[in-house]
Amino acid sequence: MAKLNLNRVEMPRQAPRKRAKNFNEVALGYSLKLAQEEAGRCIQCPKRNCVEGCPVGVDIPDFIKAIREGDMPEAVKVLKSKNALPGICGRVCPQESQCEATCTLAKKEAPIAIGRLERFVADWERENMKAAKPSNPAKPTGKKIAVVGSGPAGLTAAADLIKLGHSVTIFEALHVAGGVLMYGIPEFRLPKAIVQAEVDYVASLGVKIELDAVVGKLSTIDELLADGYQAVFLGTGAGLPMFLGYPSENLNGIYSANEFLTRVNLMKAYLFPDYDTPVKIGKKVAVIGGGNVAMDSARCALRLGADKVYIVYRRSEVELPARREEVENAMEEGIEFKFLTNPKQFLGDAQNWVVGMECHRMELGEPDDSGRRRPVVKEGSEFVIDVDEVIIALGTRPNPLIASTTEGLKTTRHGTVVADEATGKTVKDKVWAGGDIVTGSATVISAMGAGKVAAADINKFLGG
Ligand SMILES: Cc1cc2nc3c(=O)[nH]c(=O)nc-3n(C[C@H](O)[C@H](O)[C@H](O)COP(=O)(O)OP(=O)(O)OC[C@H]3O[C@@H](n4cnc5c(N)ncnc54)[C@H](O)[C@@H]3O)c2cc1C
Repeated sequence: MAKLNLNRVEMPRQAPRKRAKNFNEVALGYSLKLAQEEAGRCIQCPKRNCVEGCPVGVDIPDFIKAIREGDMPEAVKVLKSKNALPGICGRVCPQESQCEATCTLAKKEAPIAIGRLERFVADWERENMKAAKPSNPAKPTGKKIAVVGSGPAGLTAAADLIKLGHSVTIFEALHVAGGVLMYGIPEFRLPKAIVQAEVDYVASLGVKIELDAVVGKLSTIDELLADGYQAVFLGTGAGLPMFLGYPSENLNGIYSANEFLTRVNLMKAYLFPDYDTPVKIGKKVAVIGGGNVAMDSARCALRLGADKVYIVYRRSEVELPARREEVENAMEEGIEFKFLTNPKQFLGDAQNWVVGMECHRMELGEPDDSGRRRPVVKEGSEFVIDVDEVIIALGTRPNPLIASTTEGLKTTRHGTVVADEATGKTVKDKVWAGGDIVTGSATVISAMGAGKVAAADINKFLGG
């Protein structure tokens, strides 16, 4: 048996000092040589644990084998047959806890860099060939399906349904498609040209995308059904920010991460003055939270010129929910982490601008419902951090618009829509749902997996 190669091939990245001042992509991607070197480490196990670890079931060993053999069109074909958004997934999926976690070489702490290889294949396709279309499209079924929301859940459901011969229209509230991929995740982690190329691919399959179409305002779900759509998939995400609920949170200079990131990404504040939509950036910025959204907000503030950026998190480094890679990137760039710290109140000046944040030090108690140790206030530990901007990144919930305008949908106390995990079916006739609207804020790939599951069940319902 050949000796295992445990040397994971590193991916080149911009140097921390340089990248902390620009919005260009941090990770630069493999060259063909590096990709083939990494692909060469795959041992092509007969039992394909990595495929089981992928929520959309990509035939991972097959596309890796094709890279190794230099057959890039084949690698593209294998990858795209299960995943319509590989350039996105290769960049932002938490592979470390999914396909790479189940890779046999993970036992030796050197899993194949599946995400980096996936990204390489997607980029190779974009640069070298016209987007591959399915070779034998299904016969039109004459059935019409409405997909509400164009995030990863909606795009995946739409791509799968159109490949089965149905007619699909996506209704998207914003003026661009892509959901969080467009308005939330910053350019330096996920370039918008890549998201647009993958949205264009879904449109090129024949999916119609209606922009500026807020379902629940322009038309309701019941009106869509009455209009001849035989099934509706809800993929409207969880775009409603959560706050601490302190009265002092209303001071000027305190943003929700949603608003801040939307201004930076969607409104292109980072390209001011080319785009006439700047965002105010303080000199000392505190971001409250420890997830990917907090890391993205902090790194945007740094790039936009803040002198000092803090991540303020009430648990310890071990419990940080953000991807490890992004935490390391943020630390390398100079973001200062204040662990076991929680704001008690915000302090304002005479004009009601935030000037400080009084915090408690915290300690960890017994595990709570989430399984993580509960943060407990250390009495008498108050101290003040000087700040002139605060970004609250404490998670999101679904916007109540769809639930409040759709009779017969069931929701949880968190505002998420109840749907069967195995099928995506809601309790309302002809309506399916998946992604963050069902799970609350989760991941791109779990939203895509839910879109796939629902598409299969809708197809079954329509007699496919
Ligand atoms: C800043 C940030 C960073 C993240 N980083 C990562 C990461 O690194 N890796 C990862 O895996 N996940 C990450 N996530 C989470 C991930 O982006 C989400 O889990 C995923 O986008 C959810 O997909 P979705 O399709 O369910 O919803 P969304 O992406 O939220 O898309 C929903 C779409 O529906 C539209 N919509 C809403 N209401 C209506 C309506 N009434 N009518 C019509 N359209 C409507 C919205 O405008 C939006 O375009 C991040 C999230 C954020 C906010």
